[in-house]
Amino acid sequence: MTAYVCSIDDAGIGGSAMVESLRRATAFFSSRGLPSTWFTVPKGRGKPMSTEWKEALIAARDAGHDLQLHGLTHGDCYEFGPPAWPATSILPTLQSDFDERREELMPRFTVDKLRDRIEEGMEIFALELGVEPTVFRAPCGAVSKAMYSALRAVGIGFHTCMFISGSGYGHLPHNGGALTQDWVDDIPCRPFRWYEEVVEVPILNEYNSRGSGARSDEFIELARQDLDRISGQSPVVVLLMHTHGIADDYEHTFRLIDAVSEHVGRQPGASFATMGELAASGALAEAATVDGPDILAV
Ligand SMILES: [Zn+2]
Repeated sequence: MTAYVCSIDDAGIGGSAMVESLRRATAFFSSRGLPSTWFTVPKGRGKPMSTEWKEALIAARDAGHDLQLHGLTHGDCYEFGPPAWPATSILPTLQSDFDERREELMPRFTVDKLRDRIEEGMEIFALELGVEPTVFRAPCGAVSKAMYSALRAVGIGFHTCMFISGSGYGHLPHNGGALTQDWVDDIPCRPFRWYEEVVEVPILNEYNSRGSGARSDEFIELARQDLDRISGQSPVVVLLMHTHGIADDYEHTFRLIDAVSEHVGRQPGASFATMGELAASGALAEAATVDGPDILAV
């Protein structure tokens, strides 16, 4: 029995084109009978949630899609920790920028400050959306030990941002252009117990980031290869998309979703679920039968 999660980041950030991405994608998921999980920024770039976003998010929630917390402001790529791979492979200047601003940025990463940010996000979720988040995803995958302590302190026991594969960004010119399967070996490819006993649910890969539609067939083939390989290795499989990646090429995104759904449908006992459902049912906690490695420097 394997549960597959389609997760989409950065709802709440950007203008009407990004709201439209949420609307069109949730309508498409619904038309296929698939649930989706939207990692939503409650105070995007530091601004209050717009009426447009609020209405679209509530409509998505009412249609059975899941809203979970994606930072507080997502003001940059260091909201909850220093820059992390594969964000650093998408934007190679992240690490040098962080290094130059290290003295300014490092003081952010205390349990108290990060707990305040998470709590503010939870309050906005409750007030504006009527949603109590149970799963967190740090913006740009930037995490710290203090963030896990802060999650534990506010009662959120699930986090998801570590990548099993970053080959979905291989098409970027500075990454060489190859789209071959390439998995990490430093983290388990199934949910694992990590810092402060928070369950970390790894992300398999992303297949529709900006520019990928030009190589749609190759990305769909890569997705099939990854799905074949993870099948039987993890009871929970998380796929990643972004609002801007979807809007970059709706046709490719919808072809990809159909191809993934068809491929998963051939596996006995496979089904699609939301992160919220898997957290609530105990499936995420049960899936975490292994401990994660102590690899965070901060
Ligand atoms: Zn994000």
